[in-house]
Amino acid sequence: MISSQELAELSTFFSDDNDAFSLYFEPHTPQDFSYYDECIDLKERIQQTIGNLHAIPPGSRATVERALESVAEMAANHGLSKVIFACPGRNFWREYDLPGKFGTRAAMRQTFVIAPLVTQQENQPRVGILLADRNRTRVLLLQGREISEISHDEREDQEKFRITGTGRSAHLERSKEEPVRKHFSAVGEQLFRMHQQGRFGVLLVGCREELWPEIEAEFPSELRRATMGHFTVDPGLATLNEVQSKAEPIIVQHEEHELDELAASAANAEAASGLGAVGLAEVCEALEREEVRTLLWPGPRGLFAKGATLCPNCGHLDLKLANNCALCSSEMLRFERADEALIRKALSSGVEVRVLRNASAHPEEQICALLRFRADRNTPQALAS
Ligand SMILES: [Zn+2]
Repeated sequence: MISSQELAELSTFFSDDNDAFSLYFEPHTPQDFSYYDECIDLKERIQQTIGNLHAIPPGSRATVERALESVAEMAANHGLSKVIFACPGRNFWREYDLPGKFGTRAAMRQTFVIAPLVTQQENQPRVGILLADRNRTRVLLLQGREISEISHDEREDQEKFRITGTGRSAHLERSKEEPVRKHFSAVGEQLFRMHQQGRFGVLLVGCREELWPEIEAEFPSELRRATMGHFTVDPGLATLNEVQSKAEPIIVQHEEHELDELAASAANAEAASGLGAVGLAEVCEALEREEVRTLLWPGPRGLFAKGATLCPNCGHLDLKLANNCALCSSEMLRFERADEALIRKALSSGVEVRVLRNASAHPEEQICALLRFRADRNTPQALAS
């Protein structure tokens, strides 16, 4: 995982000498391609994108060689991709092994290539998982491929409240139910606090099927809204692997459904002149006017054909590739692909970014946004204020 702090650092990194080197390397499956061939292939691709290694300054060449060595050493990386950001002039090196569909690409520029990274980070909601029965409570966190158990509580079995007998048994059964209800209520309160503290964004519950209504009934309503579903499991016996394999399909399905709805509502809102923007030009305008609530980012492998510029001084985003900022005259940062400029703009303005699942051949058309409001669309002076 890349923290948002690291991402912010990478997004604002700038090299006057054009020697900010970015490398994404996603290994093929071993059946398709030998690892040795992949490394040769990577070297060729790097040369294609940043030119002949012998033609670049020795410092940069050493960085690229080091990156290639790093890739060559990762043969047993279990499907993880290698991602490297380096700048020899600034003695900067960051190396990550990340799950994600990045493809393979390399660049040596003024700035790092970070848009694919946002894609991967945003694909990983933090999911809380409650495993519960009448006596037992386990809480797990799942993010990306990482699952961990953060608490495990067992309370005294309440069976001792039961007195066997015929005539009074119905009454005594009820008195046994009350502590169970309190138990689920306490669990609900605990999870609600965790949700409020931001320890997870959404919740899944694993339990015996017949207990689900009783558990859900005790959840505070806000927690119920954050609950994406439940699955059947034995809370006492379930291993982390079993929980993960049951939770993941629900999470994927939930995300897809949610994203489809978000994209549809952006399109509908746009059509009705409401709070939506569709397409690169409109989304850029909305970002520029700080109207965007949620940016819906094109599917992972879509490549933007158009470029954009961004003012490092005032943050002005422009699809025209001007040398100087139209608002403050500073020298603009030029990005060959507009997504690099857009994502920096979005990060610096704290906009929520969600990644659409379906890759599109036309990411400039696919990108869309939900807006908080719609500012007056008048003059450039309004922008400057
Ligand atoms: Zn400016």
